Parts: sequence; C-alpha cells; structure tokens
Amino acid sequence: MKKKIYIVEDNEKNLELFIAVLGTMQNIEIFTSNTGREGLKLIQSKNPDVIILDIQLPDINGTDICRELRKIKRFKKTPIIAVSSFAMKGDKERILEAGFDFYLSKPLSISNFREKIREFLRV
Ligand SMILES: [Mg+2]
Repeated sequence: MKKKIYIVEDNEKNLELFIAVLGTMQNIEIFTSNTGREGLKLIQSKNPDVIILDIQLPDINGTDICRELRKIKRFKKTPIIAVSSFAMKGDKERILEAGFDFYLSKPLSISNFREKIREFLRV
C-alpha cells in the first residue's frame, strides 16, 4: 500500500523541490496545499502518514496547524516535520514545542530531508 505524504508549502520552488526528492522514492503518494486553511482541512480527509508543514504561510502558520492536528486523536502520533527559514535563537525550540517531530531549516538539505522521510516512513 502506498504511503501518503501531505505537504503544506506556499513557495512554489520549495514545493517543486520536495516533490522532486519524494518522486525518487517508491510507493509514495503526495498531496499538497499552498495555504494553511486548505491544508488543515484536507490533511484531515487524506489521513497522511507523514505531514510536512512550512511555518510561514499566508493565512494560518504551520505552528498553529500542528497544534490543531495534535488535538485530534488520530494525529497524535503522525510524524509532522516543520520547514522554516527562521534563524533567530529560540525559534527552533519554539517551533518544536508546538508538537513537531523534526525541524528542517531552509535552504533545504536534500540528503537530510530524504533520510528523515525514510525514517518516518520506515522504508
Ligand atoms: Mg512560506
């Protein structure tokens, strides 16, 4: 059975990069949104195995989406990865406190990203 990955990212270039990297992996189905509200809604109907959330989005940010998802029983243990270019001291800690499993900083390290996805999907 295919594993589902949901990506919420408003930057087209980053989204293309995610899709390109994930596209090299087998048995993966990718879903995307470029706004937080749509993402939060559709994540609940798609039930992904791994969720990737950009922190800076035009409407609701990734941190708030993560908090909302963690309130829902079936998303308590779903791996959720934060992607952000925040570099201020304490930002990473603040983001992780929202309930993320991992923090990826932009610009993206492709090998690090691929490794984390494999680990979370156990493939
Ligand atoms: Mg963004």
